[in-house]
Amino acid sequence: MEIAIIAHDRMKADLVQFLNKNAAILHNENITLIATGTTGSKAEKAGFEVTKMLSGPMGGDAQIAARVAEGKTKMVLFFKDPNSSHPHEVDINMLIRVCDVHNVPLATNEATAQLLLNAISK
Ligand code: PGA
Repeated sequence: MEIAIIAHDRMKADLVQFLNKNAAILHNENITLIATGTTGSKAEKAGFEVTKMLSGPMGGDAQIAARVAEGKTKMVLFFKDPNSSHPHEVDINMLIRVCDVHNVPLATNEATAQLLLNAISK
């Protein structure tokens, strides 16, 4: 199962902490992680194997949206910063829309991300 992870700059530390907390679920041969560029680098430093797309502002969110549309990415864990605006807001909104179009589970905060991982760990 391919899972995309994305975190805005102020949320990256929270995402790494979340990944470490869920390492037992994520270090599983049935799970592959993909990420926007900078998020992916942070996850790699924490010991996770990740396929990195471009950085978000360079089109990484759009690349992940394309993988959702193609049926490759089955879940998106997006630690979105609700308190800042981003130059690539249109790409972010596109990703959210494409997840809804294809009925792909999308978490935009940690509590929901945890519920989704719990659901696939059973
Ligand atoms: P980044 O992109 O992981 O390359 O920082 C995240 C984003 O802002 O969408």
